[in-house]
Amino acid sequence: MYDVVMKQFEHAADIMNLDPGVRKILSKTNTEIVVHFPVRLDNGKIEVFTGYRVQHNNALGPYKGGLRYHATVDIDAARALAIWMTWKTALAGLPYGGAKGGIQLNPKEYSKNELERITRRFTYALGDNIGPDLDIPAPDVNTNAQIMAWIADTFSSTKSPSTRFANLHVVTGKPMGAGGLAGRDRATGFGVVSTLKSWSALKKQPLKGMRFIVQGFGNVGYWTAHFLLKEGATLIAVQDASATLYNEKGIDPEALLAHSDANGRNINGFAGAQEMDPKAFWSLKCDIVVPAALGNQITEENAGGITAKVVAEGANGPTNIGGEAILRKNGVDIIPDILCNSGGVIGSYYEWLQNKRSEIWKIDEVLVMLHDKIETAFEQVVSTANEFKVDWRMSAYIVALRRLETTYMERGIFP
Ligand code: GLU
Repeated sequence: MYDVVMKQFEHAADIMNLDPGVRKILSKTNTEIVVHFPVRLDNGKIEVFTGYRVQHNNALGPYKGGLRYHATVDIDAARALAIWMTWKTALAGLPYGGAKGGIQLNPKEYSKNELERITRRFTYALGDNIGPDLDIPAPDVNTNAQIMAWIADTFSSTKSPSTRFANLHVVTGKPMGAGGLAGRDRATGFGVVSTLKSWSALKKQPLKGMRFIVQGFGNVGYWTAHFLLKEGATLIAVQDASATLYNEKGIDPEALLAHSDANGRNINGFAGAQEMDPKAFWSLKCDIVVPAALGNQITEENAGGITAKVVAEGANGPTNIGGEAILRKNGVDIIPDILCNSGGVIGSYYEWLQNKRSEIWKIDEVLVMLHDKIETAFEQVVSTANEFKVDWRMSAYIVALRRLETTYMERGIFP
């Protein structure tokens, strides 16, 4: 993923003629934190875990980005994902920089109590490297509101009691009772569908009646399916690590979610669809493809099979350089990740503002604001693509990099 994000960056910097000094700054990450910390497991034994937090850039505001719990988390993945966060927040016009981190583990191998102890001890190990005005983590792959609540509680409990409430806001994506935002749970999937609505209006291709497939049935995959169904589209296939499900007549995402929740967050064994060969997933005949799992999924191996009109990148970095070239050659539109999945961090921004102002916002207001913000970003990406005669990924980069460049030019470099 690091290779992919750097190639994308170099290419965009060339096209827009990015200032050489700014280019040097953005080519490096500001801070890289690796922590090893011990946790006692339920069986009484001690395990040492490795956690990461990479802070790429904070020219526009505090570092922002998720924490993922996954076997693929390492320093390169954290770097790549942190860099994507810098572009994502800049593109959305948020007062944030970019960071990412997590722990290298498979959360399915641990009990809830173990995950709580792991999370609290990781938070303690990160110490003052995070904070509500310094670096604000959020959910990502395999992390959720419960994990954010443990982080908020641990972080604020280890600080002076007089700062407890301000310090609870060290993370976004919290449960409502801990200062969370109504609608933050669905923000990413809602935003994916907002970008698809903009795409549909631009291309004069109604979403109603379209057929779509989703890879990953976590938070992003489920909510994207939920909101696309409301637009009159039909979910015909879902893939996760446990199975690939297909039903020509349509899969009900609500029933699939209930099944997955009861089945250790795996979709296999669902009665409302048949299992199919995972290798045939990407080449299923459909209109919309939504990768909503991990990076580097659409590659030179499978991109040629994709016959959909559009790929909406709900995941971060789902398409590699070779895969992208094939999609473009075949005329498949790509709504790039830093635009497509930015609803999550936009929702996080509203949560942070709500907390700073000690307010409680209503879900309807939140979703209207979120839709407007992502629609504006989409319009900027389209107009910049026309201006520079480039694809949407490159124009999204150009919009983001221009913002960062302007900030550096105005503020200068200390000392
Ligand atoms: N993990 C999400 C992302 O990749 C959200 C980050 C955030 O809200 O800070 O964009």
